[in-house]
Amino acid sequence: MSRTIIVSNRLPTKVQRSDEGLSFSPSEGGLATGLGSIYRADNNVWVGWPGISVDEEEEREVREQLRTDSMRPVFLTETEIRDFYEGFSNETLWPTFHYFAQYAIYDQTHWEAYVAVNEKFCQAVLELAGPDDTIWVHDYQLLLLPQMLRAVRPKSSIGFFLHIPFPSYELIRVLPWRRQLLEGMLGADLIGFHTYGYMRHFLSSVSQLLGYQSQNGLVEVGTRSVLVDAFPMGIDQAKYAEVAQSEQARIHEQTYRDALRNERIILSIDRLDYTKGIAQRLRAYELLLQTYPEWRERATLLMVVVPSRDQVEQYKELKEEIDELVGRINSTYRTISWNPIQYFYRSFPIEELAALYRMAEVALVTPMRDGMNLVAKEFIASKIDTPGVLILSERAGAARELSDAIIINPTDTNQLAEAMHEALVMPEDEQRQRMGAMQALVKKYNIHHWVELFINRLTYSKLKQETLA
Ligand code: UDP
Repeated sequence: MSRTIIVSNRLPTKVQRSDEGLSFSPSEGGLATGLGSIYRADNNVWVGWPGISVDEEEEREVREQLRTDSMRPVFLTETEIRDFYEGFSNETLWPTFHYFAQYAIYDQTHWEAYVAVNEKFCQAVLELAGPDDTIWVHDYQLLLLPQMLRAVRPKSSIGFFLHIPFPSYELIRVLPWRRQLLEGMLGADLIGFHTYGYMRHFLSSVSQLLGYQSQNGLVEVGTRSVLVDAFPMGIDQAKYAEVAQSEQARIHEQTYRDALRNERIILSIDRLDYTKGIAQRLRAYELLLQTYPEWRERATLLMVVVPSRDQVEQYKELKEEIDELVGRINSTYRTISWNPIQYFYRSFPIEELAALYRMAEVALVTPMRDGMNLVAKEFIASKIDTPGVLILSERAGAARELSDAIIINPTDTNQLAEAMHEALVMPEDEQRQRMGAMQALVKKYNIHHWVELFINRLTYSKLKQETLA
């Protein structure tokens, strides 16, 4: 019987080390919950890194434990974590694909580790995959894997999905390994992106750097044709709606409301990342307090920054910049009974996030670049019976779908400050109308719909090739 083998850098289970030994807990995030429903069905398997480096004895334990939940771990050494993961993935590909080429480093050792780890993943998949199995590879850490698999299994059905933006050819051409990376992706039968914009950039890079022409999203690569398409990823809408209505979320919300009296809440939630526009957002909020003093003591920015990649220099600098800005704004405008910004540098469990989403009247999602941005969709899914306004950057993938948000340019501080004011005074009718339209969309195009669409398209593209062959 044929199966689907899902391959991503991280597994949907986090392994952590504590005083009592190793602990296993489910990863949050759309990919884990959305694909969870299909990979646990039939004999499907998920291949990926369990997130920590372990010794030989622990390896056996992790392997055994994960096997019971249909997962196959790929273990990485400390050096591989440094050069493949922190190095090439997060310090070369991440900044380049998000238009921060000035932060990218080009290091041959990192590249070699990237090739070697992609090969390691390839071996792990080949040990499992039968000739009829479908292989679905995810994201920028594994761009070479489709071609590596294709070389050994020319007839396999291989899909690839990129979860971050695909940038303009002008950025891709800067990479010393640009040809290998594009050829790597083209090993797939179907390549998916969040938006048509990313798809067009990819096709343009393939044409200019490799000379492969395309028609209607079909790229001719020698005797094969590779289908390229846009599949905007959804969230597990039902889960967010359910958690938002849970007793636990209500209790948390009440506690927060009591603490913050009746202030109007503007919410922002991001990982610490220079792509998220956090500092620019703080400056815009400061401008709001200057331009519209009526919001002083009446509005509060509740800002959650989730620690991330804090070993990397740019992230450390960003953290300092945010700390300084928050300190300056709070010390300038605060009163004995009011803090302009409630700033948290930590992560929250889903019930508390749901309470924050419920409580916020305005959500600020203003990245400089973002493949999709799931926080925007989670905010909408959590607003079951309450109005609310989403302020969304035009450079988040989600902006292509959520056109009922207030769409802004995140570098335009004036526009962003005005958008906050507009959101705070927006009549309830208009809020409900906009929110209702976005809720319908998030509900319909949910994560299950996304998985089904991608897999159906992959089956279709494979069948078509077989007919042509
Ligand atoms: N998130 C979380 N805990 C937190 C804050 C956020 O699990 O304390 C989750 C959030 O619910 C969302 C994800 O982190 O699903 C962030 O995804 P997004 O696409 O917005 O950005 P990314 O971090 O993938 O760039």
